[in-house]
Amino acid sequence: MAKRDYYDVLGIDRSADAAAIKRAYRQLAMRDHPDRNPNDPAAEDRFKEATEAYAVLSDPEKRQRYDRMGHAAFDAGAGGFDPADFGGVGEILEGLFGDLFGGGRAGRRRAGRDLTYELDVDFVEAALGTTKQIEVRRPVACDACDGSGATPGTEVHPCPNCQGRGEVRYQRGFFGAMRTCHVCRGSGKRIESPCATCDGSGHVQRDEALDVKLPPGVLDGAVRTVRGAGELGPGGPGDLHVTIHITAHPIFSRDGADIRVTVPVTFPQAVLGATVEVPTLEGQVQMKLPAGTQSGRVFRLRGKGIPTLGGAGKGDELVTIAVEVPSRVNRRQRQLIAELAAELGTDTHPQQASFLGKLKALFDQQGRS
Ligand SMILES: [Zn+2]
Ligand SMILES: [Zn+2]
Repeated sequence: MAKRDYYDVLGIDRSADAAAIKRAYRQLAMRDHPDRNPNDPAAEDRFKEATEAYAVLSDPEKRQRYDRMGHAAFDAGAGGFDPADFGGVGEILEGLFGDLFGGGRAGRRRAGRDLTYELDVDFVEAALGTTKQIEVRRPVACDACDGSGATPGTEVHPCPNCQGRGEVRYQRGFFGAMRTCHVCRGSGKRIESPCATCDGSGHVQRDEALDVKLPPGVLDGAVRTVRGAGELGPGGPGDLHVTIHITAHPIFSRDGADIRVTVPVTFPQAVLGATVEVPTLEGQVQMKLPAGTQSGRVFRLRGKGIPTLGGAGKGDELVTIAVEVPSRVNRRQRQLIAELAAELGTDTHPQQASFLGKLKALFDQQGRS
């Protein structure tokens, strides 16, 4: 198969400048990189082709030769194009992408493992936002050796297997990739006399107090990440992921940014109207109950809910009134209520009158059919 023109491969003009060449290759590499297209040989071929074109055109001297002589410029050797002549594909990619793909640069070592923590948070604290202090047992740098792992005053040499990089390169088909050195376990060091306190690991387990900031209105199941609070690794610490569990509240419940609460009132309060105490997130408030309030009616206390994320506003508190019927009455109370019932008749209960009316119509209809 005839080799395609390098400019065609990258889809650029013969007059393209260095930035345009880089941009074009970057786009193709993002699309066709084998890490993103496992088991797709066609993508791998396209990627190789683009990498070769980029390796030549991004080097001014090689580009000049190619412009003059075409592919013949590099056909002198038996194998034609060899990525090794260009510092290797790994280096090309590292220059363009950092460690986006599995070819991490020496010195940029793997971070430690992430840790998780389950945090129970009180309903009101979660609604209003708070800072919780938690204790996490995690490895921290050993004080005795300052994290070096070596007895103070003794020699530390670079690991001979990885030359102190902590990682070794291995070949995976066309690509070089890095993996943690098994001799030094990624530390890159060979220690003559290991520190007695930490056994040469450079770190010790310690309980550490950490502050976890919870924004107002944080949701049950939300995860907050504390950067750098995970385990130590050769490339620095991992992160700590804190999962929030909001404990149920005895009287409040949540409905988005709104708070719901049910307030029991007595029959006389509902009939005559009253001022009732209503709990809110920020303490008790007084609410005026109008005369003739029906059970189940919902009142809205504006701005007594949960601050919305971003602090733009606040939800409301929705107060449901539950009229409580006396569960037990004495003889005198029973007599008074009976008197009251006779006095009230049915005119004063429009809901019941309407319900009985509907019921009657329904039975009349059934009787006819
Ligand atoms: Zn130590
Ligand atoms: Zn090593």
